[in-house]
Amino acid sequence: MARCRSWRPVLDDHTHPIDHAPGSCRACWTVCSAKVPRGQVRCTACERALATHPSASVRMALAREEGTCSRDVLELLAGDLDSMIAHTAGARLSMLGRSGARNDLEEVL
Ligand SMILES: [Zn+2]
Ligand SMILES: [Zn+2]
Repeated sequence: MARCRSWRPVLDDHTHPIDHAPGSCRACWTVCSAKVPRGQVRCTACERALATHPSASVRMALAREEGTCSRDVLELLAGDLDSMIAHTAGARLSMLGRSGARNDLEEVL
């Protein structure tokens, strides 16, 4: 059993600005150590917390990560109010869609 290695926002802290980057401030962020299935980098709770974080730069960083976001979270980000984030997540989703389509084709052949 692996453990989540993600930074997790400390939700009850409202004294700092929202744009403190993960890892740069120990009042805004804490290290998660929830158990996750082998091969998974981040637990679902952290994924959700980052995808719904009030700071656009945090959501953008998540959208830009390669191969760590679940499809659910990418779909959430693809509907983001920030068009850059929505675009980035949408591009990742279509990449996932293409690799899925290729697998289907291999099954047919
Ligand atoms: Zn802070
Ligand atoms: Zn976690």
